[in-house]
Amino acid sequence: MKCSVIMHTTSDKKNGRSIMSLKMVKKFSHFSNKVTPRVCIVGSGPAGFYACQQLLKLCADVHVDILERLPVPYGLVRFGVAPDHPKVKNVINTFHKIAKNSRVNFMGNINVGEDITVEELKNNYHAVLLAYGSDQDKVLGIPGETLNNVISGRQFVGWYNGVPFDKDLKVNLDTEEALVVGQGNVALDIARILLTPIDELKKTDITSYALEQLSQSRIRKVWLVGRRGPLQAAFTTAELREISKMQNCTTMWRSEDFQAIEEHLLNLPRPKKRMIELMLNNLSHTTFAKENSTKMKILAPIFFRSPKEIIGTNFVQRVILTKNNVTGDNFLTARAVPTCFEEEISCGLVIKSIGYKSVQIDKDIPFDQCVGRIINSYGKVKDNLYAAGWAATGPTGVILSTMTNAFQIGNLINQELDLSHPKVGTKRLIEIFKEKNVAIVRFEDWEKIDKVECERGKILGKPREKIVDIAEMLKIALS
Ligand code: FAD
Repeated sequence: MKCSVIMHTTSDKKNGRSIMSLKMVKKFSHFSNKVTPRVCIVGSGPAGFYACQQLLKLCADVHVDILERLPVPYGLVRFGVAPDHPKVKNVINTFHKIAKNSRVNFMGNINVGEDITVEELKNNYHAVLLAYGSDQDKVLGIPGETLNNVISGRQFVGWYNGVPFDKDLKVNLDTEEALVVGQGNVALDIARILLTPIDELKKTDITSYALEQLSQSRIRKVWLVGRRGPLQAAFTTAELREISKMQNCTTMWRSEDFQAIEEHLLNLPRPKKRMIELMLNNLSHTTFAKENSTKMKILAPIFFRSPKEIIGTNFVQRVILTKNNVTGDNFLTARAVPTCFEEEISCGLVIKSIGYKSVQIDKDIPFDQCVGRIINSYGKVKDNLYAAGWAATGPTGVILSTMTNAFQIGNLINQELDLSHPKVGTKRLIEIFKEKNVAIVRFEDWEKIDKVECERGKILGKPREKIVDIAEMLKIALS
């Protein structure tokens, strides 16, 4: 039974004009008691907030609780989006408004699966939405992966963005060359952070300890290695253009990677065509770049290569790459097939940016361990359990596509709400957390953290100085 919104046009007598007001009418054919629809959302990233927004819009008396593992909201908008991309973070303004809605209740510092089970949530809410993202790594599974200074891209991003679990990551930037495995936008973010002049980074909300280490960095060349060819590169034109335009850095493409590519140009979809043209245009500047390479930092993308082994005694010293051929008629789905040719690249740092995966936070969540996501059919998991965002779709797509997905699941939840019985919701949860001695961080408590971060940032001439220690967050929040 779904909530339905009925629009009434009423007259505002005072102003003498016609206004629209929304009135909720719940269609209960068999009983008249009004049941408050209660929905619980697990995770306060874009998926959680956008699903919440849709529910508030469709169901005028719904009450939504958002549970978040950390004392701070916003998921990868805070902890993933690059510090030098502040405009992307403007979505936080929308999320802030949603959280301030009187029908929304944010509860941070609640680790679902540990502090409360999914079964308990299902029993206490009409619907439960799992929107807890993907925060684990895929692995390469090659020899040498555990050497010092071979680190995961997810942790490196977490380190510079202040993820409490990654603040102590050991990363040594006392080396001239780094190799990033992967060619998606996250890989480009990582390369850009390694290559950007320190004075640019100082103005961002990058963590101070990362800034300090980056200011000592000797890295001047970043290899960006992809299994397949330029036609299959996963990064987008805007991100590639941004790095290509950096004043202190030049992009050195390899001409052999672009052989015969021009014959494909005519048949490419426009966005892909624009990206290849950008690469080809830069390719013609590569000789100039070589001549000036002593002064410039270098981004060196390499296509058709997969890491086979990482070599070093204690620290990484070099990587052996296998050369691949790309086969298949459709350029998008073409596969990389290894050949017997190899190439060695010297480097003192390897960052693996080969994708995120989700985890099963509770045994009652049907989960595909191979792919690393919740098993669901268009957002429906089972009974009154739903999934949205990266936990449901896998770690692909940007905030916009996550929003579209979350809106769809919000619609589905609204359509399927079974309001035949009342549910206790928040009240019961508070009892459970009290019994277990788990402190709840409310949205107003987060605002105290936010205020301190902004004040500390102001002193340093940056938008905020993120607090990276959970105990310190809690001290401020609960004071
Ligand atoms: P998340 O944002 O990960 O949110 C999930 C939330 O669930 C988190 O707050 C997490 O703490 C919480 N959670 C996890 N486990 C639990 C638990 N057990 N209990 C309670 N809560 C839990 N998109 C763009 O449009 N522009 C960009 O510039 C951009 N940059 C990116 C950079 C990086 C490095 C990455 C990884 C992604 C980037 N994206 C960008 C993509 C964007 O961040 C994602 O599309 C989006 O964040 C996915 O939203 P989500 O809500 O599914 O997951």
